[in-house]
Amino acid sequence: MRFSGLRLVKEALTGHRGWEPLWRDPDPQPRYDIVIVGGGGHGLATAYYLASVFGQARIAVLEKGWIGSGNIGRNTTIIRSNYLLPGNEPFYEFSMKLWEGLEQELNFNAMVSQRGIVNLIHTDAQRDAYRRRGNAMRLAGADAELLDRDGVRARLPYLNFDDARFPIKGGLVQSRAGTARHDGVAWGYARGADRRGVDLIQNCEVTGLRIEGGAVTGVETTRGPIGAGKVGVAVAGSSSRVMAMAGMRLPIESHVLQAFVTEGLKPLIDTVITFGAGHFYISQSDKGGLVFGGDIDGYNSYAQRGNLAVVEDVAEGGMALMPMIGRARLLRSWGGIMDMSMDGSPIIDRTPVEGLYLNAGWCYGGFKATPASGYAFAHLLATGRPHETAAAYRLDRFARGQLIDEKGAGAQPNLH
Ligand SMILES: Cc1cc2nc3c(=O)[nH]c(=O)nc-3n(C[C@H](O)[C@H](O)[C@H](O)COP(=O)(O)OP(=O)(O)OC[C@H]3O[C@@H](n4cnc5c(N)ncnc54)[C@H](O)[C@@H]3O)c2cc1C
Repeated sequence: MRFSGLRLVKEALTGHRGWEPLWRDPDPQPRYDIVIVGGGGHGLATAYYLASVFGQARIAVLEKGWIGSGNIGRNTTIIRSNYLLPGNEPFYEFSMKLWEGLEQELNFNAMVSQRGIVNLIHTDAQRDAYRRRGNAMRLAGADAELLDRDGVRARLPYLNFDDARFPIKGGLVQSRAGTARHDGVAWGYARGADRRGVDLIQNCEVTGLRIEGGAVTGVETTRGPIGAGKVGVAVAGSSSRVMAMAGMRLPIESHVLQAFVTEGLKPLIDTVITFGAGHFYISQSDKGGLVFGGDIDGYNSYAQRGNLAVVEDVAEGGMALMPMIGRARLLRSWGGIMDMSMDGSPIIDRTPVEGLYLNAGWCYGGFKATPASGYAFAHLLATGRPHETAAAYRLDRFARGQLIDEKGAGAQPNLH
């Protein structure tokens, strides 16, 4: 079924009885050419591009819960490509370009909204750093604009300019950045993959990796063993657990990151704003809720819920930036498990086990990467070669000391 305005009118006039499920609910086959472990955004996008771009068939995505139950349905929905380093910027700009055509390609409303992002500047050193970052973005074909204090004030008059502990001195703007409906992205990729014959198997946890003679031959699951020519692991916060099944220890720690949403308010924030003197980011959803977040909780955990200390820290960031936020009532908060790599950048690579591939280490930033990550991982699985924009995301860079450390923070997951 193709979605269109005409289809909507027809269904409205006939009692909405013609809508079909977005994907099938198949039983697992005994064997596939390619098995993707993890039905989050990255796993689904990988399956979609394997089938649609790279001509692969006999593909399954195995998801231990339901589609959209992981970080893909828990994030604060920010998409952007405002990175500095040559290992990162072309990849995230590639992702931005895929976002720009995604809804047409998938024939699905993922509510991609290029409402822009403003990274606030509070010190002279930060202005220098953001100017450098903006120039790097432009060199990689992305858009960037530097605002002075008056420019920010004209655009965001409701921020605290007059008695702030860390006065706002300007902002780096990327107008093509914005937000997208996170679970809509999962559903769109799932539907697109299913239509191309990919089996999406929910409630199917991978409990073991079958390895014979140094090569992967399949997976053990809660729904029985499944043979596979190649296995791609894209399980985000569970990466260390799943790769331990192959005897591998990853340069990744799992941490909780929380998100918050207020009651619906009248339209107020028409862009994404990040506070530069602390860790706080905010946008407003189409339903009116203020959606915001801050730092990870800062201790290793596989729990999908956070603690009160970070709730307070995030609230402080919000109050410092726009004091009127204190009058909004918080509706919900939740947590997701982040796969924090040691340098803050991801891994898309083969592993020492033949036929076993890894997509992990997305930290805070994997939602915006979903299209490019899926495309690059599919490229690697199908051709055996890294995609040109993801060539730096090698697993052995940690052993070689060639880190991709955007913040220059060192091997400290809690600082990325
Ligand atoms: C609160 C929060 C806010 C965020 N905000 C942003 C943001 O604004 N912008 C941004 O770019 N990024 C953001 N992120 C990060 C982003 O959401 C993640 O990096 C990204 O979603 C991870 O990739 P994924 O979608 O594939 O992960 P997931 O959706 O977590 O997918 C992994 C899947 O693997 C499944 N799985 C795990 N183990 C197994 C197993 N053994 N067998 C089978 N399946 C298994 C899980 O159930 C899960 O569904 C945020 C994350 C959180 C938690």
